[in-house]
This record gives sequence, structure tokens and C-alpha cells, in this order.
Amino acid sequence: MNNQTSVTSIRDGAAVSAAGTTATAVVYEAPRTFSLRELPLPEVGPDDVLLEVTLCGVDGSELHMFNGELEMFNGRAPLIFGDEIVGRIAAIGEAAREERGLDMGDFVTVESRWPCPEGCRHCDRGQYFICLNNTGHRGYGSIPLAEAPSLWGGYASHVYVPRNALLYRIPPQLSERAALFACSVLANGLRWTEVSGAGPGKTVVVIGPGPQGLASVLAAVRAGSAVVSVGLERDAERLAAASSLGAAHTVAIAPGENPGETAERIRALVGEVDIVIEGAGFAPAKQLAYEVVSPLGTVTNVAVASPIEQPVNFQQMLMKEIKMLNPMSHPHTVGKSLDLAVELLENGLDVGRLVTHEFALRDAAAAIDVAANRTEESPIKVVLNPAL
Ligand SMILES: [Zn+2]
Repeated sequence: MNNQTSVTSIRDGAAVSAAGTTATAVVYEAPRTFSLRELPLPEVGPDDVLLEVTLCGVDGSELHMFNGELEMFNGRAPLIFGDEIVGRIAAIGEAAREERGLDMGDFVTVESRWPCPEGCRHCDRGQYFICLNNTGHRGYGSIPLAEAPSLWGGYASHVYVPRNALLYRIPPQLSERAALFACSVLANGLRWTEVSGAGPGKTVVVIGPGPQGLASVLAAVRAGSAVVSVGLERDAERLAAASSLGAAHTVAIAPGENPGETAERIRALVGEVDIVIEGAGFAPAKQLAYEVVSPLGTVTNVAVASPIEQPVNFQQMLMKEIKMLNPMSHPHTVGKSLDLAVELLENGLDVGRLVTHEFALRDAAAAIDVAANRTEESPIKVVLNPAL
């Protein structure tokens, strides 16, 4: 290993923070317990990259991890959360520089999962989010701190990028916030609408107006579909955002309204429903999806909420010949998503405005509560900014 190169890169790296030799990280120690730790910056080998994190997305679902509801993560603590990451290259090995065509200071995003080095049946088909050699679904935000070089999550000033991880250069037109929204949330929306078959002449109902739902609205509108965004009455601001992104209709579910009634209201607005993207996860939302979709339509499940096992009416699925899809994340979509963000910006829509809340690393627990919609705030996308 040519460590000389890497050490020089770090020493010479103007982009390395003033702190110099350590990274600051929010470490998940145990349920409901974060600590702010200083961790040594790793030596960067010839194939490696070190990013200085500019922004990291906070996902409402990280509340379940923080609460200790996901046993898988408790067993891995201590670890650093955060898998939606944009940042600048603070150090880069010689081989990585050549192979990736990237250099110090470049503004990039790193994808949360990557193809296994040895190759497997799924990775070879482009499905690295369900890699057969990655049975623990490991990636950013889910690798223990004990595993060198520890910097495996975006809730930190720096993240380590190994050889196989996927880095994408961010187009210069995009702001940090726009890049953050595009790197994962919009990429999900884009893939989920594409696999669902959204396009001109199709009516798409998107259940759940959180960031991922809004990204799906945006992608389906851009694909030429007529879109209905569905939320609860308390989601008024998010539903207004859906309208501003081009949703033809918004539907707010009243307290106590049953899925059949909501389905009827939606059909009264649009008639046939070709595609439902179910992004809320709860049982009534799943029921609404199968209720409202027209015969021969498609229901695309993209959210899971507790309890994860929910009843499905197979007779209804059969009698309506419903197609059910379950796309996992956004393999091979980040580049397209960044291009889409640029195209939208050129047409007057800055997706960066969907980032509504920025928090310092030390306030990560508060950021999670806001992102999970447990406060009086009306967030869309919540992020951590290590520079605050
Ligand atoms: Zn694999």
C-alpha cells in the first residue's frame, strides 16, 4: 500500500477542515443515546477517498433506529447514522484519482450501497441494493464504528469512501441543498415512477406526501402523468407543496375516514387510477392503494411501517388483476436524478427548496424528531450541516 501518497494528500488537502486530524461524528451508542465523538481521520490508501460532508439527509425512519426499535442496528452500535450524503473530496488516493476522474475539492455524492467486489448474481444485474454478499444490508449508516476506519455514516464531518463505493460528481448548477435532495430522495422518486410505468395518459396516485412522496409526485408529473397526492389533514403544507410541484389534485384524509371513502373521493376526481405509489406504509394506506387502483393497475409499495406484516386481500388483487411492485431504493439512478434536478432548475424549479430544515450535528436527535413529524414544525426535507 502506498500510504505515503495518502498521507501527503491529507496534509496538502486544503479542503480538510481546520480541525485537521480528527472527524466529528454523532455516534449512536444505544437506544435514545447519541454522543458527539472525535474520531481520527484515516490514512487514505491509493484506492480510497475521504469526503468532508457538506450536508447529510435525515430520514424520518431513522427515528425507529434511534428509538432502538430495529434490533439489527442495536446489535451494531456504536455506529454513525446517515446514508444521504453530499460533500467535498478532502483526500484522494492516486489510483482513485485516476480511475474516478475526480480530485481534491470536487463536490460529489456517494451512494449508500455499492456492488460487491467479488460480483454476485444481483449486483451483476445492477441490483446492488439487494446484493447477495451483503446479507446484513450494510452500507452507509449501518456499519459498526468498530470496523476500520469507522467513518461509515453521514452524521459526521467526514466519511470514508472505499474503492467499490459509487461516487457521482455533482453538476455545478446545483446548490448543496438541491444536490442533497437529488442524491437520494429524488433518485428514489424517479426510479419508483419509472418502474411503475408512469407516463403520458396515466393517472398516478401517490399516498404519503413526505419527501419521498413529493419526489414521486415530481417525477410522475415530469413523466407526463396526471398525479394525485394523498395525505392526512395535518399534512396541509406538504400537500400544498405537492400542488406546487404539479400535482393535479391533492386529497386530505379526514380523521376517521375509511380507505373505501377516500378511494371513492379520488375516483370522483380522476376516474381511473393506473398506478398507486404507496409511500406511507401504514395498514390503512395499503388498503387505500388496493382499493383505489383500477383493474389491471399497478400498486408500488415503497414504504414499510410498523407492524411490518399487514393483511393483503388476495381476492381483491386477483379479481382486479393488480400488479404489485416492490422496488428497493434506486440502483443506477443517481446520475439521472442529478440531471433531472438540473433540468428542473432550468425550468424554474429548484428542488433545493424542498430542504426546509438544517441542524448542527450536536442537534441530531432534534433533527430526527422534526423529520419524523413529531414536532410542531412542518418539515419537508431535514438535513444535518456539519459546518453549523
Ligand atoms: Zn453483490
